[in-house]
Amino acid sequence: MHDVAVVGAGAAGLAASIFAAETAVRGDREQRIVLLDGAKTIGAKILVSGGGRCNVTHEVVTPTDYFGNRRIIKNVLAAFSVEQAVTWFASLGVALKREETGKLFPVTDKARTVLNALVDRCHKLGVAICPDHRVTDIVSHPGSEAGFVIHHLHGSVLAKKVILATGGRSVPKSGSDGFGYSLARRLGHHVTATVPALVPLMLDDRMFHQTLSGLSHDIELTTVVKGRHVDCRTGSLLWTHLGISGPVVMDASRFWCLAQAHKDVVAVYGNFLPGQTQEQVRQWFREQVQDNPRRSLLKTWAQQIPERCVEALCAHAECDPTTAAAQLPRKDRDRLLAVLTKFKFPIKHDRGWNYAEVTAGGVPLEEVNFRTMESKLVPGLYLIGEILDCDGRIGGFNFQWAWATGYLAGRAVSTRVCADSEAHR
Ligand SMILES: Cc1cc2nc3c(=O)[nH]c(=O)nc-3n(C[C@H](O)[C@H](O)[C@H](O)COP(=O)(O)OP(=O)(O)OC[C@H]3O[C@@H](n4cnc5c(N)ncnc54)[C@H](O)[C@@H]3O)c2cc1C
Repeated sequence: MHDVAVVGAGAAGLAASIFAAETAVRGDREQRIVLLDGAKTIGAKILVSGGGRCNVTHEVVTPTDYFGNRRIIKNVLAAFSVEQAVTWFASLGVALKREETGKLFPVTDKARTVLNALVDRCHKLGVAICPDHRVTDIVSHPGSEAGFVIHHLHGSVLAKKVILATGGRSVPKSGSDGFGYSLARRLGHHVTATVPALVPLMLDDRMFHQTLSGLSHDIELTTVVKGRHVDCRTGSLLWTHLGISGPVVMDASRFWCLAQAHKDVVAVYGNFLPGQTQEQVRQWFREQVQDNPRRSLLKTWAQQIPERCVEALCAHAECDPTTAAAQLPRKDRDRLLAVLTKFKFPIKHDRGWNYAEVTAGGVPLEEVNFRTMESKLVPGLYLIGEILDCDGRIGGFNFQWAWATGYLAGRAVSTRVCADSEAHR
């Protein structure tokens, strides 16, 4: 019989185990905590995160960095601030450094430092980590001392409380293959439609993206669903051999994927002159024509957009980039201006779960108590991390969500176990 069984040894599950065990130690209690994971070696996602450097959190984290029920997200984030995360990691022996973008990384620049610190702390606190223990079912027995029977590949364990931290569907070979949603459903929870988020987008083969592969520059992306602007953001776009990627595309991808899942008409437009309206751009071009009438289109636009990109966009607008600015017929100018400021990306697919960094959708936040992360439907069950219907933008926000929800659940579960055993005395 265990006091707490944590299912899933990713960021959220490891954090929850540590906070649960630390809370017990502080209360001078011993608690038997078992951490079950289906993967043969744990922590795959932490190791690949942040390009192998693990972007642990961000210097400023606000609810608007996330999608989901913002009122609940706000409460969760308020319970475990960035400062607390930094102090907590320091206590684990992981010093963090801030990069120009505001992202926080371990000073070693190695994700391994983060994983090792979390696992070492679990070991020190006596948390039993069981890799290769894929959980196949969780049965709740309300009223009995062993609140739950957890069936796994090698048998079953009994536990008073369960923390479900099985992640989402992104990068299924890491162990997070979406089965956790089935476990949650069987226990009575709902799961909203899940789609890839923070995922590159693939363009029609006939597009010019291959010729620009490797080039990145700023762009303003607007996503329009059923005629309504649902998202507009500016940031770096990276052209790839398959389409478009980079932070701004990854951040916007969830809207395109959700619309696709709902079979809604969706379009993503790019403004290659971020922050400028078509009218402002037109005015700027007029001034250029007056000041440098003989300058080519290529050289004129290359003042604001990378040259390779101007070439491709001119070709797309059927304009010769060597044409002198003053010689451009009005019709061609209007077509080029439309391409430069309202370029419709011919998106065919997202790049799929193997390339998505997170999952949009999951167990509704309304089904958990945001002070404890305990299920409102199944007493003694706690849900944390990516399994919940909350996804953050790129920059360390998803890990912050994992630490914060792990903190709340870990502390709450431990306190509850103590209180229950006092009551039974
Ligand atoms: C390539 C990549 C890079 C990323 N980089 C960053 C970054 O730099 N910063 C950031 O904030 N976020 C990043 N993320 C997102 C971040 O990794 C996740 O949001 C975070 O790991 C979610 O934590 P989690 O514990 O909820 O889920 P996971 O980390 O997915 O952990 C879930 C665990 O549950 C286990 N599991 C699943 N089903 C079962 C089962 N049935 N039985 C037993 N165990 C099970 C899995 O094996 C896994 O170990 C990145 C993601 C990817 C894919």
